[in-house]
Amino acid sequence: MLLIPCPVCGERPEDEFGFGGDATVQPPVTDSASGQAEVDIDGFADYLYLRENPKGRHTELWVHRYGCRRWLVVERDTVTHELYSSRLAAGEGGE
Ligand SMILES: [Zn+2]
Repeated sequence: MLLIPCPVCGERPEDEFGFGGDATVQPPVTDSASGQAEVDIDGFADYLYLRENPKGRHTELWVHRYGCRRWLVVERDTVTHELYSSRLAAGEGGE
């Protein structure tokens, strides 16, 4: 079983966590000169539905659902399941 090191709770089994997807994908929203957010509609569909399924080292979002309920950014290898790093996501006390 994959063990995920939560910065708050320590090392916990994967089944305490929920997978939140790719942490490197950003929504296609830009700030216009008027201060209104502008959304690229075609790009937004791709953002919602198209995802890579990479092999190897990858940065992902996980939520510690049955623990501290905080969001984490986890860097791991999707083939070997080796974990490289784990930190709180932005807005959860991380950067
Ligand atoms: Zn936790």
